[in-house]
Amino acid sequence: MPRSLARGDYRLVLAIESASRADVWYRVLADRQSGALSCDCSVWIFNQNNRTCQHTDVATLLLQTPQARVQRATVSQTSQTTPLVAAVQEQWPGLGGAWEIEERQSRIGQHPYRFILVRLFPGNGGEPITGVAAFALTHQHTDAHLASRVAGWAGYAIAAEIARRGGFPLAGQPPEHFRVAPRQSSARQRGPAARIGLSDILRVGDQVDLGDGLRPVERAENTLRLFLGETLYTQLAQQGFLDVLSVQTPGRVYRLRRDPSHLRERRVRVFEQGCYVHDYCIVRGQDVPEADHFLTVFLQLLSDEERTLSVVRAHNMFGPHSDGPEPERTPAVWAARA
Ligand SMILES: [Zn+2]
Repeated sequence: MPRSLARGDYRLVLAIESASRADVWYRVLADRQSGALSCDCSVWIFNQNNRTCQHTDVATLLLQTPQARVQRATVSQTSQTTPLVAAVQEQWPGLGGAWEIEERQSRIGQHPYRFILVRLFPGNGGEPITGVAAFALTHQHTDAHLASRVAGWAGYAIAAEIARRGGFPLAGQPPEHFRVAPRQSSARQRGPAARIGLSDILRVGDQVDLGDGLRPVERAENTLRLFLGETLYTQLAQQGFLDVLSVQTPGRVYRLRRDPSHLRERRVRVFEQGCYVHDYCIVRGQDVPEADHFLTVFLQLLSDEERTLSVVRAHNMFGPHSDGPEPERTPAVWAARA
């Protein structure tokens, strides 16, 4: 594990490409408790007396930029349809709300960089959430390459914050690997216990075939596992569900269940004031792996509950136990968001 990630609770502030090695990324992380920044670069790691580097300096400037001045009213309609936003939405289809992209060029030390900031105004409300990737202009980047890295890094950071706000602080811990390029051995050769990195989840633009032997089902499972983290992923496997608390309707809990065989999607069990009252059938799109569908519904409810429910009508609303007799023994407890 990189030293900067040892123990603690971190937020990915931005990802910065190495100026000397293409597609090698430094993650600037903020300790959520102390606010202290860390970086993967050797300057930060070996300079024990002065925990700064040019990357944390940039992050400090970025964090000082007041987000409060950004009003949703300023979001232009065109932002919704840029290729970069489309790439983030393809990688994280559950994220719902209004999108905005900001780009600027600036130097880090001697090197020119292109900063791409993605901002989501969640459909569920609350402060806008940003993710940032900085590309070293000394390297050549195709549009597809840019889009896949923005989706991977900025999208991941935004999805992580959405999960955290929804009561899942263990989800969305920053990915450990900071080399995006696929590694030599395939995931199957490495075995299921091998660490999953960002290269194992990217699926946009030029990343359709990574040459790593991953099938879409495996990539979807990796994405779910990487994003939830081992603790939450194991909890899901053992209890078979995760509970998402409604923002719109006090007292309502959505119980998102997983088929143990990971083949079919399960209906969402809906609890009102602790009572199991409905099954919602939220159908997955064709050819979408079950793990993708699970993560999508999870992030949808956490980011934009209204949009998720807009597809639920009388014909896909059922009585309790409509797709399985499993009894409910675990209370579904609602609480207001912090
Ligand atoms: Zn650094």
